[in-house]
Amino acid sequence: MHSYSRGLLVIGLDAADPRWIFNQWRGKLPAFSYIMEKGCYGALESTVPPTTIPAWLSLVTGRDPGELGVYGRRNRRDYGYADFAATPFDSLRIKTIWDYLDLYHKRSLVVGVPATFPPRKVNGIVISGNQTPSAEAACTYPPGFKQEIAHRIEENFFDVPDFRSQGPERLHLLVKQMTRKRLRLVHDILKRFRFDFTMAVLLGTDRIHHGYWRYMDKGHPEYTPDSPFGHVIMDYYTWLDKQVGKCIDRYFADHDIMVVSDHGVRTCLGCFAVNQWLEEKGYLRRKQTGGSAFDSRDIDWSQTRAWATGGFCGRIYFNLQGREPQGIVPASQRQALQEELRRELENVTDLQGQPLGNRCFLPKRVFRKTNGIAPDLLLYAANLAYRCSADFSEHWFSAPEELAANDGASHSQDGIFMLLQKEPRALGDMGKWSIYDITPTIMDHFMMPKGRLKGRSILSFPESTRVVFR
Ligand SMILES: [Zn+2]
Repeated sequence: MHSYSRGLLVIGLDAADPRWIFNQWRGKLPAFSYIMEKGCYGALESTVPPTTIPAWLSLVTGRDPGELGVYGRRNRRDYGYADFAATPFDSLRIKTIWDYLDLYHKRSLVVGVPATFPPRKVNGIVISGNQTPSAEAACTYPPGFKQEIAHRIEENFFDVPDFRSQGPERLHLLVKQMTRKRLRLVHDILKRFRFDFTMAVLLGTDRIHHGYWRYMDKGHPEYTPDSPFGHVIMDYYTWLDKQVGKCIDRYFADHDIMVVSDHGVRTCLGCFAVNQWLEEKGYLRRKQTGGSAFDSRDIDWSQTRAWATGGFCGRIYFNLQGREPQGIVPASQRQALQEELRRELENVTDLQGQPLGNRCFLPKRVFRKTNGIAPDLLLYAANLAYRCSADFSEHWFSAPEELAANDGASHSQDGIFMLLQKEPRALGDMGKWSIYDITPTIMDHFMMPKGRLKGRSILSFPESTRVVFR
């Protein structure tokens, strides 16, 4: 089978945002600017929901969360009310880009892609990403490779432990240390072995956003001017730019270079307590009120029609007859309840009576399939400006200070892509593309057919509809 022999290096930057790289800080970022000038770039629309998991899995498979059956970091394992767990990567029966490449005898090195634990067999080497339970876990394929790199896989390799509690003095040091460790490992391995496809995901951008957003963004409710931490995010992007520059210097001779992110970032303005709201509206009842943490044992399921889990995106589940153990909503009323809740949630107003801007998504409409146990409704509170909480509080609207103490940033729908090619097939601002287009683009780089994947190759459609980036 004929295929292209030049290598491809994909650098994944979790949550890297188009505003900073393409506009605001472009003049301070020579390596990113070089890629933009000599190659192509654009915004990359993420999955619903735009969260690290499932977004990276969609990026490396070309499949949506419904096809993957992965709707978030933890997924429901059965129709009981409490059994949520991370989806083991080796249980997924869906091909990744490195599986497709193997069909063309291409060798891959994959480091740190979120949700790839436990690693599956690959033609090459895989080191799993965050969600790897500990440094002791079997995090490599081939399994024996772990011994060779054990000195690099230690504390603070997969993620900064408990990053929301590290405090601003320490967090940025730990984030840089984590990123350095990961990059050093990739450089070491690339010195010793040859791969056609190399992909490394660096989580640091996301952790830095969450930790320092409120010191930088004037729009954040807790913003204080002249904070000593006001420049941490920008400094991190400039530091990262140097690392990307080193990768160009070392690898561009025999690799094209792609930079991608899984979603963007925005200010977190508050918190929407979804179960509290459901209770106030009569969809949920507790056996007795009091206590704030959501606990399924405290819920009166005989009187509850809907309940939710929290996160950047709220996931709402119905208590369906014949499905949940104590279900009360007849299956025939499911669709009507979806529409009713969607209408009500989208009409929620803030304390000043202005529309909050909630958006709801029906899994059947946004995904091609709904494998595993899909939520009955997905909620972007204030279009992601509010984080969703499962816990109960005085009011469904939690004051921003409750949240801001540890995390000032939420996620936004659009991330980035950039591609530097020796023989450019696309140039300049390509407008907005989709996260599902990355796997087909990588296949196109190697001149492989994309089969039935729904995305398009960025390289094959240079004149497609351009959406001007704002
Ligand atoms: Zn992410």
